[in-house]
Amino acid sequence: MTEHEPAPTEEFLSLEQAVRFLGISRPTIYRMLAAGDLNGLRVGRQWRFNRADLMAYMARTQAAPGPRVLADAEGELAFFAQEASKLAPADGEVDTGDAPPDTAAVARLCAAIVRLALALRASDLHIEPRRLDGEECALVRYRIDGALHVVRRMPKRLLEPVVDRLKAMAGLDLGERRLPQSGRIPASFGDAEYELRAATLPVLGGEAITLRVLPRDAQIPDLGRLGLSDGLRFRLDALLHSPNGILLVSGPTGSGKTTTLYAAMQSISGDGVKTMTVEDPVEMVIPNATQVAVSPRGGITTASALRAVMHHDPDVIMLADVMDRETADTAVQIAMNGHLVLCQLHADSAAGAIDRFVSLCSDPYYPAATLLGALNQRLVRRVCAECGSEEGAPPPAAQRLAEVAGGAEDVGAAWRRGSGCPACRMTGYRGRAALYELITIDRVLADAIRSQASADELGAAALAQGQESLAVDGLRKSASGITTPEEALRVLGVAP
Ligand SMILES: [Zn+2]
Repeated sequence: MTEHEPAPTEEFLSLEQAVRFLGISRPTIYRMLAAGDLNGLRVGRQWRFNRADLMAYMARTQAAPGPRVLADAEGELAFFAQEASKLAPADGEVDTGDAPPDTAAVARLCAAIVRLALALRASDLHIEPRRLDGEECALVRYRIDGALHVVRRMPKRLLEPVVDRLKAMAGLDLGERRLPQSGRIPASFGDAEYELRAATLPVLGGEAITLRVLPRDAQIPDLGRLGLSDGLRFRLDALLHSPNGILLVSGPTGSGKTTTLYAAMQSISGDGVKTMTVEDPVEMVIPNATQVAVSPRGGITTASALRAVMHHDPDVIMLADVMDRETADTAVQIAMNGHLVLCQLHADSAAGAIDRFVSLCSDPYYPAATLLGALNQRLVRRVCAECGSEEGAPPPAAQRLAEVAGGAEDVGAAWRRGSGCPACRMTGYRGRAALYELITIDRVLADAIRSQASADELGAAALAQGQESLAVDGLRKSASGITTPEEALRVLGVAP
């Protein structure tokens, strides 16, 4: 601290304090200073802000809500606070700064909505205008373990103040209601730090906002803890230690394939192996890898990044998404030059991923020669550990699942089911586990690829070689009480 700097008194706030006070980001503050929308004092190299100036800014940007809105906000706040206290007594904190008194109730309500979502381990929060049972409302829903839950119907007049407050926290332009915007809100809960990715959208009846919850410094799980069966893990390890070739990791959106890919990369990264990634965006940090973020606006496409990465002599390359011919062809070329490439792909099955990848390439001959295998996965909800108990007999859906799985034997008989409790919001499920299938490409399958076999033919050929399907893994994980056959059938898209 220099002698010219005023002591941080009640009246003067540092930049960091102003950021928290206004609930907006540093870049936004700099932008506002440059535009003259906010007064700041330059003391040496530090900025200082007069509390009164910040209050004046808040008053300008947030019209004072009427008494009914405030009363509603207090009522809703009580609801969210009580729900959260059932789960995690007083250990959650969402920092919204000291909002001025007229917006304090709305600010605290927004913090409570976020806090409850974090306490419930929600992956997304959705706040939208709705007309339900003839009444307009602001619907609050959370996605938990992949399923959307209605948490609350708030009075419609709270929609605008709540969306405005969340927009302010995310550093968005409050005056803009007709264009979609996106921003970020830092949040913490217990010891964990999160980043909420906020996105707004003008919709019928007002403005909707969605917050995606991303844990900060998320730890990449160990490959051994992802629930791969021993046999499948052994086969996957063999593929991951191939000196060259392409391994596809596939699944629909939200199937956990990114986590698997990161875990696989981490398991092979080390001092003796140079691993590089090409991602859009980089989602997690792999300690021993060099990660490149694709930036189409900055002129770095996936294919151009991939070619640039080749000049850095990597042993293994991870490619976050293969969606076009140029990328697929470049990946094949790299694999043919003696590198291992792990590619993420959207597909419903391992055979479907192979089919999709080959159809992206200009010539099926080269992928047939370089593809090592394809891993496909789904996430199922786990039977709640709090209320789950063993079932005496196999549930009726077990029969159906066994049919789909082609009658796997020796799967066990420890069926379990949750009866519903507060911990699982009465669903009987809490947390998730993955189902996997892995196709290893041998000479027969390579020939099938070369002769442009369909996904169904590839799948049948893989089964004929004894490679197990997702349904078999689902049956096994239901019979061992990890999930239920109904849940496995649901994610497999099969009617029970
Ligand atoms: Zn439960």
